[in-house]
Amino acid sequence: MAHTLYIVATPIGNMEDITYRAVRTLKEVPLVLAEDTRHTRILFDHFGISTPMEAYHDFNKEAVTPKYVSYLKEQGDIALVSDAGTPGIADPAFNLVRECVREGIDVRAVPGPCAMVTALVSSGMPTDHFAFQYFSPKKSAQRIHLLEKLKDEEATQIFYASPHNVDKFVAEIQTVFGDIKVALMRELTKKFEEHLIGTPAEILAHFKSHPPKGEFVLIFNPKDKSGL
Ligand code: SAM
Repeated sequence: MAHTLYIVATPIGNMEDITYRAVRTLKEVPLVLAEDTRHTRILFDHFGISTPMEAYHDFNKEAVTPKYVSYLKEQGDIALVSDAGTPGIADPAFNLVRECVREGIDVRAVPGPCAMVTALVSSGMPTDHFAFQYFSPKKSAQRIHLLEKLKDEEATQIFYASPHNVDKFVAEIQTVFGDIKVALMRELTKKFEEHLIGTPAEILAHFKSHPPKGEFVLIFNPKDKSGL
């Protein structure tokens, strides 16, 4: 009889942001797949979880997926976690989930934190229609090309952004869209959480005295519908 794959969301910074069901699931399953077992060990130690763990990450996901599909068919349940937030959102999960769905194996999400949703709902940007654009591209030409394509979009746009090029990205938004409002949500749920909400020029002025550090979600509405 096939068992269940649980997709378990974990904190994006604040250890209190985990559900009772997530902790119980991680304790009860016979096997946890983790993006980085050393990283997840910290979470396990914090919540007294001692379930055996194996690695499931971007570099082995294709090779090991069949093994875990067989495990789910023949041996027991599996819980999958990533380093932070919801597996499958800019994190490995998709390959295993797709194979399980193809094979008729139950997949259940244990919902919880996700940086893009956390950022969106506190940004003041319209939440009725939005698009997640994954990580902002690494190269400037690719970022500008993408921004040009988004010019006629009505939906709020959400990017995961890197501290190494977020300032350049903000400047490129200014070049393509002018003085629209941008929400740059930094270190969400952590001690130094910060919401930089303003025009690109205002954000770039802030960066002059506070160079970008930490984790960022960048949000804007191409039609500047926020009314901010
Ligand atoms: N699966 C995760 C989720 O549910 O949000 C996303 C993982 S992705 C590999 C990591 C990126 O998410 C970071 O580079 C950053 O852009 C964003 N992120 C994760 N945690 C964050 C936080 N606490 N504050 C701001 N951005 C965060």
